[in-house]
Amino acid sequence: MNLTFPELQIDYRSSPQRIRVLTETWFKNEVYCPACGNYNLLKFPNNSKLADFYCGRCGEVFELKSKGKPIGKTILDGAYYAALERINSSTNPNLFVLHYNQNFVENLTLVPKHFFTPDTLVIRKALSSHARRAGYIGSVINYGGIPSAGKIAVIEAHREIFKDSVMKNYAHAVSLRVRNMDLRGWLMDVMKCIDNIPHEFFSLGELYRLKDELGVKHPSNHNVKAKIRQQLQFLRDKGFIEFLGRGKYRKILLG
Ligand SMILES: [Zn+2]
Repeated sequence: MNLTFPELQIDYRSSPQRIRVLTETWFKNEVYCPACGNYNLLKFPNNSKLADFYCGRCGEVFELKSKGKPIGKTILDGAYYAALERINSSTNPNLFVLHYNQNFVENLTLVPKHFFTPDTLVIRKALSSHARRAGYIGSVINYGGIPSAGKIAVIEAHREIFKDSVMKNYAHAVSLRVRNMDLRGWLMDVMKCIDNIPHEFFSLGELYRLKDELGVKHPSNHNVKAKIRQQLQFLRDKGFIEFLGRGKYRKILLG
């Protein structure tokens, strides 16, 4: 994988347009489909509402978002209600997040589509009546709120990760796919709680202590503890944690 942006033959007046062409050209030339390994990802027409790229072999779709600085906690997204509708739809794309530094790709991270929930999207204030697009309501992606299992490194600190590892990590993450959005929200919240525990071993008690926080996010559920245990069983069945007995657990594939 070449980690330098290609030379462009055309001069672009605006810097965002130039960056978009550079990042998209680089992506198309260098990046493969994490689901099936196909190198020939295809581009949707510009401004497609669906996504930026798709795999002609397996049909997965991908969105590419780029930043000229470390990604941090949030990523700018599009119009809030359209973005929300897309998250709730079955055609929600997988997200590639690219951090570049001048002409070099520093980091490329893949977030599989089923790590997005309506909570991932944060609504912004409507633009004022003086703005060119008065009344427009934008959104940001709460990138910091996505569990570590949903952030698969493809390039890390200007170093390419082996394709086999990326595809294996992606397949593991896909095994956590939950279609029901309420259950998916529970799974993401419990994984994020586990991420926040700074050691490899943890207890059910530690997670229960976070239950008030979860209870607030899921006000309609009266049995938060049972919901937490349900998520832990699911994560154990998928090989992401190990049950050690007597309410003790070990992280295997979680941060
Ligand atoms: Zn594919």
